[in-house]
Amino acid sequence: MDPILEAAEKVKAAGECSPRAGRDPVNLPLINNWVEAIGDANPAWTASDGVAPPAMIQAWTMPGLGGGRVDDDPLGIMTEVLDSAGFTSVVATNCDQVYYRYLRHGERLTVRASLVDVVGPKKTGLGEGWFVTTRSTWYSGDEAVATMDFRILKFKPPEPGAERPAAPAGAGGQVMRPLVTPDTAFFWDGTRQGELRVQKCGSCGALRHPPGPMCPKCGTPADGGYTVASGKGTVYSYVVHRHPPVPGKKLPLVIALVELEEASEGQRCRIMGELRGVKPEDVTIGMAVHADYDRIDDDVTLPAWRPAPPGEPLPGMVIKASTTFIVSSALATRDFQDVHHDRDLALAKGSKDIFVNILTTTGLVQRFAAGWAGPDAVFKSIKIRLGAPCYAGDTLAFSGHAEPAGDGSGEWEITVRGDCFLGAHVTGTVRVSVPGRNS
Ligand code: ZN
Repeated sequence: MDPILEAAEKVKAAGECSPRAGRDPVNLPLINNWVEAIGDANPAWTASDGVAPPAMIQAWTMPGLGGGRVDDDPLGIMTEVLDSAGFTSVVATNCDQVYYRYLRHGERLTVRASLVDVVGPKKTGLGEGWFVTTRSTWYSGDEAVATMDFRILKFKPPEPGAERPAAPAGAGGQVMRPLVTPDTAFFWDGTRQGELRVQKCGSCGALRHPPGPMCPKCGTPADGGYTVASGKGTVYSYVVHRHPPVPGKKLPLVIALVELEEASEGQRCRIMGELRGVKPEDVTIGMAVHADYDRIDDDVTLPAWRPAPPGEPLPGMVIKASTTFIVSSALATRDFQDVHHDRDLALAKGSKDIFVNILTTTGLVQRFAAGWAGPDAVFKSIKIRLGAPCYAGDTLAFSGHAEPAGDGSGEWEITVRGDCFLGAHVTGTVRVSVPGRNS
């Protein structure tokens, strides 16, 4: 038997490790810090007789500034085993939290971890590695109140000089760039922030795209006015581009001319862009699409389209991941890992900059879902897959849709995606029950 699997069997058989107690009971001041850093305005969290945000669960028992793992912590043991086998690099891949009930102020929590499984060796885009999944269970007294399945990939770092994995398409490279003029700058400022801006005549209110210096209806010069489109539309026409090659793009690709829902009788309003996430043969005239954004670099984000998902779309949410945001949210989630607050150490460890920590990402997913579900929603679970890091100076644009869970529970399942410069930073699903909105 592989010595790694052998070690895993032993750790698994040992069951839950010894408990680690939270430093403080669940309390309002720490909740207020968290809510302020994450930007979650839900009044349910900050009432004097309120409950703790469920996505904050991990923060209550974080080891703190000088703290470490308990000796029999399964992740600690497996990390040592894999380190000594040469799988020294680590990346977190999944974080699935399930909430049995909400926590009230004054509750004292402990957490215990167990090993779920160790799977490998697997060839991955990062190198050969092993997936390690541990389960943390939080207890209030003897009562289990929440669990988190946390999966990491421990991998062999690539040999120096080895071929590096290709950068994702659209991340830099020689993608064709639009010409940005004073007339069109507002449009590109918008796409950069996840907004589709359509020029609007200040005199007669006519919409026009592409932007121009003068209203073709009434002749009034452009005054900088625009409206933010909902991003919903239908395919008016499209082409399938098979040849010649387009730098930075995989062919064939679909370019669609989309009629926005803001269009009306005698007022056409159409925007062109790549239609992604659908096979060319499945595209139809009139199919419902949503705006998507193809970030090329810090300056240019191209508008694109995606088939409209089933269910209800969620209102978009854009987070500017400034240095201050990353540092304050890391500390408010009680995550003191240096890569989230110390740029010099982050660079020394091979990162481009400090980056958003996982506990914050989880909090942002909760905030985004609550933007649709409302302050009375009860979160049952947040299950996320972690992707590209979100570095300081980057922007996180969230999108998603809600559908009835369809299992008789009356709950909703919200599909969430948060994109940053390098691509999907987070994808996942959130389960909520929404009073007065039975699915
Ligand atoms: Zn006009």
